[in-house]
Formats: sequence, C-alpha cells, structure tokens
Amino acid sequence: AKAEANNHSRFYIASVDQEIRARKQLEKDLAQALGRGEFHLVYQPQISLQSNRIIGAEALLRWSHPDRGMVPPDHFIPVAELNGTIVEIGQWVLDESCRQAAAWAASGMPLRIAVNLSAVQLRQPDIVGTILATLGRHEIPPGRLEVEITETGFMENLEDAVEKLRQLNGAGISIAVDDFGTGYSSLTYLKRMPVQHIKIDKQFVQDLLTNDDDTRIANTIIDLGKSLNLSVIAEGVETHEQEFYLRQRGCQIAQGYHFSRPLTPEAFREFVAQFHGK
Ligand code: C2E
Ligand code: CA
Ligand code: CA
Ligand code: CA
Repeated sequence: AKAEANNHSRFYIASVDQEIRARKQLEKDLAQALGRGEFHLVYQPQISLQSNRIIGAEALLRWSHPDRGMVPPDHFIPVAELNGTIVEIGQWVLDESCRQAAAWAASGMPLRIAVNLSAVQLRQPDIVGTILATLGRHEIPPGRLEVEITETGFMENLEDAVEKLRQLNGAGISIAVDDFGTGYSSLTYLKRMPVQHIKIDKQFVQDLLTNDDDTRIANTIIDLGKSLNLSVIAEGVETHEQEFYLRQRGCQIAQGYHFSRPLTPEAFREFVAQFHGK
C-alpha cells in the first residue's frame, strides 16, 4: 500500500509539473502569436427581433496555433489577462474590428461592431484615448462601436470604471454589460453605469423553454431592461422557439447559431446580403 501511495504522489507531481510546463509554453506561444499573424476575427450577426434586420456584429477572437490548431478563447484569454498580453492583443482586436467596420461601411454596410473589452484593458490609464484614436484612424463614427464588458470588469475598480465608461459613452460609444446575471449583478451599480445594453448569457438562453429557473431569470432580465430603459440582447439563441419566446416577451436583439455562427468577413458579407435579400 505504501508503494502504491508513493507511486500515486509521484504521478501527481509529474502531472502538476507537466501542467506548469504546458502553461509556460502557452504563455510563450501567446507572446509570439500576434507578431506571427496567428490571430483572426470572426463576426456573429446581431438581429433586431423587432425589425428582423441585422443591426450589427460581435467580433470574436480566434487563435490558430501552428501545432495545436484552434485554441478556444476561453482557454487563452484568461492566461493573456494574467500575464498582461491581453492589452496588446485587445488593441489588435479593436484595430482590426474598426478596419472591418470601415470596409463594410465603404461597401454600403454601415453596421455597428461590438468588441469585447477585458477588465485589464479597461484598467489601462490611456484606454479612452486609445479607443478614440483607433476610431479616428479608421474614420469610424463612435456611434458605430459598442464595447462589451463583463460585470467583473466593472466591479474591480468601480469609480475608475464608471469614469472611463462615462467618457466613452459621452463620445458616443455604446456600452453593453456582457454575461449579465452570471456575476455579482447589482442593481445599484447598473443604475449608476452609463450602459445601454445588457446581454443575457447563453447559459440562461440554452434551457429557456425547458428549465423554469432559466425562464424566470431571462424574464427578470428583460423586465429589468424595460424598467431601466436598456435594450436587452440574448446570446446563444439556437432555436426558432427561443427566438419566438424572446420576441414576444419583449427582448430587442438576439444572436446565436439559430441565425448564424460567427463568420469570416467574406461569409458575413454573404450572410447579410442573403438575410436582407430574402
Ligand atoms: P462571450 O463574449 O460571452 O461570447 C459568446 C460566446 O458564445 C462566443 O464564444 C460565441 O462564439 C458563442 N456562441 C454564439 N452563439 C452561440 C450559440 O448559439 N450557442 C452556443 N453554444 N454558443 C454560441 P467564443 O467565440 O468561443 O468566445 C468565448 C469568450 O471568449 C467570449 O464570451 C468572450 O468572453 C471571450 N472573447 C472572445 N473574443 C474576445 C476578445 O476579442 N476579447 C476579449 N477580451 N474576450 C474575448
Ligand atoms: Ca461578448
Ligand atoms: Ca456570454
Ligand atoms: Ca464571457
């Protein structure tokens, strides 16, 4: 039994060691990924449930690792946030999103672009100036940019976050609270925040019609949006029934596989033409 225990702990130590090494390798690869052009963006259409028109797109980051293939953002973004590389990566995302939005506008598709902003980015002292300069460089009117930020992004340094979001909002950029309901949702901060949209997290949309708790949570968020005069975006809409329910319940905007997966710029352009042509 003793030998077994020893073996067990040796195995344990070896696997922890492996994990640390894998993590260090990931960090090293991440630091080089930008320079090597391994990132690209895909765009998921956002549909107005009232007008049935595409009103914009959320930009989502993709990393194609030379050996490992596609690394999901949920896997590498937390690492990039911890070691700070998210600042540079996030700036690339913003720049690339604006470049794309300018290209769309030039071809008669002046759509709003929603960009995920990490709490680490929001903490940068020059973030407001950087965002405005990026818009300026691509000649994108601020009203065409939406910034998505999670509740944790607000909470870490509330005063500082409120001030920066005010400045962004004052310049005409709209703000969406991402993953609403999954964190420390507080009605007090929501009232103080210069926010225009709240996004119902896909975990509540997935079982919207089969789980009573999720139905109630989604209803509550939609009602909250109404009473605070915020429009509500449902993410992860996968079925016609979910779309139907959300529309008749008063949710304004939806995105999800039911409409479209996140698309390359070329596929996105085709999707818009088809969707509006039908
Ligand atoms: P998120 O912002 O909550 O994005 C929604 C996620 O749901 C995306 O995953 C999207 O591809 C996925 N999704 C969309 N429709 C459906 C659907 O109908 N069903 C299901 N099951 N999933 C759907 P993705 O692209 O893997 O991104 C994961 C997370 O990574 C994002 O969650 C966001 O927190 C983060 N992320 C992605 N791109 C960026 C970025 O450029 N910057 C930062 N800071 N974070 C990003
Ligand atoms: Ca998002
Ligand atoms: Ca989410
Ligand atoms: Ca998220």
